[in-house]
Amino acid sequence: MSIETTVATRRHRVVVIGSGFGGLFACKHLKNADVDVVLISKTSTHLFQPLLYQVATGILSTGEIAPATRLVLRKHRNTQVILGEVRDIDLVNRTVTSHLLNDDTVTSFDSLIVATGTQQSYFGNDHFSTYAPGMKTIDDALELRARILGSFEEAELAKTQEMRDRFMTFVVVGAGPTGVELAGQIAELADHTLEGTFRNIDPRDARVILLEGADAVLKPMGPKLGGIAQRRLEKMGVEIQLDAMVTDVDARGVTVKDKDGSTRRIEAACKVWSAGVQASELGRMLAERSEGTEVDRAGRVIVEPDLTIKGHPNVFVVGDLMAVPGVPGQAQGAIQGATYAAKQIKAELAGKQTPEQRKPFHYFNKGSMATVSRFSAVCQIGKLEFGGFLAWLIWLVLHLYYLIGYRSRIVTVFQWLVTFLGGRNRGQMAATEQWVFARLALEAMYGNEEDGREVQAELGEKPAASAKQPSDRRAG
Ligand SMILES: Cc1cc2nc3c(=O)[nH]c(=O)nc-3n(C[C@H](O)[C@H](O)[C@H](O)COP(=O)(O)OP(=O)(O)OC[C@H]3O[C@@H](n4cnc5c(N)ncnc54)[C@H](O)[C@@H]3O)c2cc1C
Repeated sequence: MSIETTVATRRHRVVVIGSGFGGLFACKHLKNADVDVVLISKTSTHLFQPLLYQVATGILSTGEIAPATRLVLRKHRNTQVILGEVRDIDLVNRTVTSHLLNDDTVTSFDSLIVATGTQQSYFGNDHFSTYAPGMKTIDDALELRARILGSFEEAELAKTQEMRDRFMTFVVVGAGPTGVELAGQIAELADHTLEGTFRNIDPRDARVILLEGADAVLKPMGPKLGGIAQRRLEKMGVEIQLDAMVTDVDARGVTVKDKDGSTRRIEAACKVWSAGVQASELGRMLAERSEGTEVDRAGRVIVEPDLTIKGHPNVFVVGDLMAVPGVPGQAQGAIQGATYAAKQIKAELAGKQTPEQRKPFHYFNKGSMATVSRFSAVCQIGKLEFGGFLAWLIWLVLHLYYLIGYRSRIVTVFQWLVTFLGGRNRGQMAATEQWVFARLALEAMYGNEEDGREVQAELGEKPAASAKQPSDRRAG
């Protein structure tokens, strides 16, 4: 299929790749512009990643944090939404090729905004992913929920103390915001929500271990906030192990190398990986195809001051995929980058400036924050650094503000009231066996040529939006 008409008969077309913060805000800022917008994404939703950990720990359902992009953009009369994984960008002929099932769609563009973000990185040890899923997608969060709850179920039925201990030990790798949030929530789940619900085990005996290769929790946020988060987690019973590098992960646990060079084992059935990111492969493709553009170690595109790639002032790279000094891989970086790109396109179409006259992108740092537990967060706004209940309240309000859609906000507030004020209950504790095994089954199936051929004969080809994703995002 091809989405094309001759340039003379159509409006300026902006193709946006990705439906995360970058992609969605680019579309929002182009809503009333005299352009046609085509948004292409391999997922059908706009995923609010900052609340993924609440899906994983049974507070929110997927619908609240991942509304369908098509519905969000319903009133954008100039915007078409296409589901598909972009596999090729032709900078010379100005086309993007996306893939869905066994169909390729070629879409031509006049301007391009690439916002395909990052995926989990296992630093070259992709086999870790089999036993320690990351926290990047809805699939990850649901798989993790089923793994956490499944571990308690297994512990209840364990025949030996050794097995029980393994099922009752939860290892979170990486003490960045995601690791801190997850460790805190698993501890709360064990201590409050599940307390008194089993007969052979006491969920409060669960060990939650947070492993960090560096020497501090939340290192980028500085020693003060890292210290607050660490103390709060320790008070909740989370064991924090710093300077602890994970060197192997298998079904039964993890191998850890300490600062002094010694190695040791931690037996744990449930592991989570939140230690690193790797940019979408489109970053490398763009760099290779535009002379002189480079990527950094994580594969992020080192963009020009106007967020474009060398020699192509009509191709913007925004969000987590761009590497700009001083801009963190956070929602604000993506939102501001996308807003900037949309403004340049509009100004140039209106004849107000030429690409040469663009002012460089300037990032306005609105601060950063992370929650540790209910009623406790850490917050950095300018030079102000504080933690505790006030930080948690600010976190709450800001996350509600950036959630997309009134319905999501209302339902989320209700779920938070039930969870945070109601004491023990969490509304989303369903989990199925499929959530644990579907990814591994798909990977095994597609890894096995014979089975793969049978499935392809039935389905057409590997579904781009689901089956391709697990192996893809772990390619790091
Ligand atoms: C668990 C977690 C917690 C976080 N917490 C916070 C927080 O508290 N505060 C904060 O500010 N930031 C937080 N972040 C970071 C924030 O979510 C990101 O900075 C932000 O999502 C980046 O937006 P983006 O548009 O660049 O990429 P993303 O939001 O990752 O979106 C990428 C989009 O591209 C699509 N895509 C990828 N490859 C292709 C392809 N080949 N073809 C088509 N489509 C493709 C994806 O489906 C997706 O729609 C968190 C991130 C995670 C993972």
